[in-house]
Amino acid sequence: MLHIRIKPGVRLSEQPEIGHNRWHSDIPFLASLMPGDEAIIESLDFLDAQIKNDDDVSDIRNIDLTLAHPLTGPFEIIGAAPGDLLVVDIIDINPITPIGFSGNFSKDNGGGFLVDYFPDPHKAIWDLKGLFATSRHIPGIKLTGLVHPGLIGCLPSYELLTEWNKREAPLVAQGLAKPPCPATAVLRGLKGNKFDQMAKEACRTIPAREHGGNMDIKDISRGSRIFFPVYQKGAGLSMGDLHFSQGDGEIAFCGAIEMDGAMHIGVDLIKDGMAKYSINAPVFIPSKIKPHYENYISFQGISVENGVNYYMDATVAYRQACLKAIDYLEHFGYTRAQAYLILTAAPIEGRIGGIVDIPNCVCSLSIPTGIFDQDILPK
Ligand code: ZN
Repeated sequence: MLHIRIKPGVRLSEQPEIGHNRWHSDIPFLASLMPGDEAIIESLDFLDAQIKNDDDVSDIRNIDLTLAHPLTGPFEIIGAAPGDLLVVDIIDINPITPIGFSGNFSKDNGGGFLVDYFPDPHKAIWDLKGLFATSRHIPGIKLTGLVHPGLIGCLPSYELLTEWNKREAPLVAQGLAKPPCPATAVLRGLKGNKFDQMAKEACRTIPAREHGGNMDIKDISRGSRIFFPVYQKGAGLSMGDLHFSQGDGEIAFCGAIEMDGAMHIGVDLIKDGMAKYSINAPVFIPSKIKPHYENYISFQGISVENGVNYYMDATVAYRQACLKAIDYLEHFGYTRAQAYLILTAAPIEGRIGGIVDIPNCVCSLSIPTGIFDQDILPK
């Protein structure tokens, strides 16, 4: 079986043959797989080995976000043609180093969902052991992981890449999306004119798009099957940004429990499946396993913030649910920053309650009480 090995702790730019950190239709394939094949594919953490196992947040404060995400691939699936569905079975995922990290970026470099409330960076290093994660930076917590790829997807066609650049340009102009950045682009070791031409149009990996990409869906775990639309000949499957655990929304952006890891996958094809099933964005079967938490405490948020009533705004409502959970956790010995990192890293369930009762959208955020070594219910 194909096994792609990486050097953990070594930047992608120093091992460029394993992958890429931008999307482009013409990135050369790393290896080929036949339908029915399996492979084990290792990948670097999403910040490309910039975070150190120490108690100093300067690595997060000074992060170079243009190095995200170092992906392993792309893999050619022999016989895949535009219009097909690529079937990916996630057979297993495991860390390859026993350390993970979570953090929140500073307001002037990276930000995050609650950035206006948390302008300064924080960091938590996690020890990963079997099913569990603990952190010296957040005492009294033990999480059961739901391991998953934050990022997995296939290459866009050149037409799709062109469309991405075109539709994101107005957002880039407002500073609300990131443009291509040739300076730190890695395209599987390409150099010279070919690299220069591709790097200036190669899209950043931060947002998910219709090919998949940075979906950050925690239920795409062991046992999941994903159906990807194929936009480019050979499909070009790539993956990275593996998470040991993540709360819905990955609210701190830096991020879940981030790790270097290995995915064992199987691939297959459904010829002409896109038209047959009207699928033009990933469809998946969630994992059959979940951490077994029986009890949760849930917080409700509505689309009202700082005295302003927003109309049916689920983003505001979810942010309010997060803030209410943080207010509450402070009563159990956690700093607000620790509580923020718990919400980004623990298997938090986020839900839209009502999105019809004008003018207020309602979201809920549920924390498994079993992650704490103390009873956190009101008495
Ligand atoms: Zn991540």
